[in-house]
Amino acid sequence: MKKITIAIDGYSSTGKSTIAKQLAKQLGYVYVDTGAMYRAVTLYAMQKGFIGDGTIDKDSLVAHLNDINLAFKYNKYLGFAEMYLNGVNVEKEIRTLNVSRYVSAIATISEIRSMLVKQQQEMGKKKGVVMDGRDIGTVVFPDAEMKLFMTASPDKRAKRRYKELLERGDDVIYQEVLENVINRDHIDSTRKDSPLKKAKDAIAFDNSDMGLQEQFERIYSLTLRIIEAI
Ligand code: C5P
Repeated sequence: MKKITIAIDGYSSTGKSTIAKQLAKQLGYVYVDTGAMYRAVTLYAMQKGFIGDGTIDKDSLVAHLNDINLAFKYNKYLGFAEMYLNGVNVEKEIRTLNVSRYVSAIATISEIRSMLVKQQQEMGKKKGVVMDGRDIGTVVFPDAEMKLFMTASPDKRAKRRYKELLERGDDVIYQEVLENVINRDHIDSTRKDSPLKKAKDAIAFDNSDMGLQEQFERIYSLTLRIIEAI
């Protein structure tokens, strides 16, 4: 079967990564979670003290970009690749609410975006990739054969995220999670460089009232139709 590029964009916590992982597994494709890359850069900035008291020392961070090494390493027990920052597995640290608070501000910095976009294009250049993020169908792979744009109501999304954080043992308040989701969507959709928006040729998919199985079946059959038509 011919390999294609699948770009999945959309608002925070719309279940992009769940569907992307399932699709990649079913098709034998590589899955790339680009949000993890922005999160890892944010964690690096925190570790170096470039983020503090609600401020970001952009110049120092940009001056250290060459010191940031990001890598995905496949974990066969989990069935997906985990994020490594300078050789250390940071999969757990990058998912905290504290990283979520700063990641969208970090993602507005053009120097960071261009560095990460280059790495993402390299990872997907052989096709057979499912990549999720905010700018995959618009900037990273504008020629992707299949583009999805996922949406769901803010409340549904915040509830999903809240459940995930509680399951991981994080001490969080629902209202804070809801505010974070709304705030990130606002920053992501209004930033100057590569704002979050639906690519013209992307298929909009609202999963507010859809179970995971139904969602997967619909998207998978759509994918097969696209692959067959090529
Ligand atoms: O996907 P996730 O919610 O983990 O992404 C975290 C943040 O990283 C987003 O809110 C957004 O600010 C940024 N991001 C981005 N472009 C991408 C992926 C993520 O700006 N392709």
